Amino acid sequence: MTPLTEQDIRAAFVNCTKGEAKRLTVPRDLADRPWDDLDYLGWRDPQAPDRAYLVTVLDGRPTALALRCPTPAVRQPRRNMCTMCLTAPAGGVSLMVARRAGKAGQQGNSVGTYLCSDLACSLYLRGKKDAGAGARMHESLTLEEKIQRTVTNLRGFITTVTE
Ligand SMILES: [Zn+2]
Repeated sequence: MTPLTEQDIRAAFVNCTKGEAKRLTVPRDLADRPWDDLDYLGWRDPQAPDRAYLVTVLDGRPTALALRCPTPAVRQPRRNMCTMCLTAPAGGVSLMVARRAGKAGQQGNSVGTYLCSDLACSLYLRGKKDAGAGARMHESLTLEEKIQRTVTNLRGFITTVTE
């Protein structure tokens, strides 16, 4: 994806207020992120571990989501799969919940999905980060096809938040 600045990112949030978008934590090392290898940039708030964020570029437009990660009461014994990149990383996946945009969100509607806990889907797909043994099923798809599928999944999730 194209590199984004802090300003781009703060302006891209679709499911929080302008005030929230102004205050939330954006990584300081944006210039050093491997943008060429990212389908989306995701991060957690170091001050608030139950908060995560992601930003991507859809149809040339930066689009960002604010997410909540409710702590699971019981740790799941079996490895779950990320709905975005279909990896079951050793680091685990987390339920991430997005408040829906607009009126639906004001009425308390939200949508959730399981994502790699470290939001590193793009790096797992490309083999730039080790997901652990058995984390990825064998598939005959090319990397390009897997990336395409991930982007489609991400787009679908964002659409359920914004529509
Ligand atoms: Zn993932």
